[in-house]
Amino acid sequence: MDFRDDLSTASDYLRMAVPLMVRRRIPPTPYNYALWYAHVQNAFPDLSRSLLAEFPENGPYDPEKSESLFFEYFVKHYLPTSPQARDLIADIVTKLTQAVSRNLRGTQDYGASLREAMTVFEESVIDPERIRALVGQLLTETRDLESLTQAFQSELQSAGAQVERLKRELEESERRARLDALTKIPNRRGFDEALAQSLSAPEEPTCLMMLDLDYFKRLNDTYGHPMGDRVLEIVGSVLAKLQSDRVFVARYGGEEFAVIVNDELEVAQTLAEQIRRQVAALQIKRKSTQDTIGAITISIGLTRFCPGETAEALIERADTGLYRAKESGRNRVVIA
Ligand code: GH3
Ligand code: MG
Ligand code: MG
Repeated sequence: MDFRDDLSTASDYLRMAVPLMVRRRIPPTPYNYALWYAHVQNAFPDLSRSLLAEFPENGPYDPEKSESLFFEYFVKHYLPTSPQARDLIADIVTKLTQAVSRNLRGTQDYGASLREAMTVFEESVIDPERIRALVGQLLTETRDLESLTQAFQSELQSAGAQVERLKRELEESERRARLDALTKIPNRRGFDEALAQSLSAPEEPTCLMMLDLDYFKRLNDTYGHPMGDRVLEIVGSVLAKLQSDRVFVARYGGEEFAVIVNDELEVAQTLAEQIRRQVAALQIKRKSTQDTIGAITISIGLTRFCPGETAEALIERADTGLYRAKESGRNRVVIA
């Protein structure tokens, strides 16, 4: 949900929303205003229906109802997409809210007892028996409040632990989302982010290689798709060994890989040659017959980033190099 209306539209909505709220005696808190703004905006028909039903004119105002609608329509949307994570967060928030209001009620009761006790001292004749009884009662209530507070604290602690667990799970799933399942090296998404990061420091040199296995379709046709997958895994592991703080390797898609080298062109070229030779030297055996399959080769297009250009332009130029490498016979590195 976004509120991106311009000043005049937003003012129109203001003029529509406020009278509706005034008529219902709804306090113009941020939650409420967001809800009624969305209503006049006609953002969610379901929300409008709920608002009109839950807050009739001259009806009672229940802040919990607006909070839960606010959660439903505005907050939930920003929560993680995994349903388990979302349920867990919703659960924590609900439990904490309940614990806070229990604690608040406990404190209010305690305050009432104290005020009641004070009235004894306003009487002209103070009966020691009554004072003893009152102090006894206050002691009991103090103990109750103490245990309530302790329970509240342990609920806070367990919510804290749950939040920690959730955070770790989210980090792990974020990490997995950037890895390619077959080769276990970063995928296209990881690549896009790493490239954007490299290009955000234009004073440092950045080079990009696009790599594509040669005649891979033929390999699949000859040895079968599972063998093709195994070759991709092995090439992935060759690249994974090169990963460092200056070199980022990724599976770009299909039988294409990409390598970002945060260094000068000569360094990247040496690395590209090294990869090409290493792949060509691989000896991959068929599991069934144990004989070695024909040489796997790879073509590479390499280019250096020109400050000011976009990531797309850089990728396109590396691709041009790759295309030329294919055209001129494959199993080679071409600088574009
Ligand atoms: P070129 O030398 O021109 O690159 O020829 P090529 O056969 O490698 O290129 P082409 O684009 O014709 O075919 C690529 C093949 O890669 C087709 C596709 O089935 C195969 N491929 C893509 N992804 C995978 C994968 O994950 N596993 C396997 N086994 N094959 C894949
Ligand atoms: Mg290809
Ligand atoms: Mg290919």
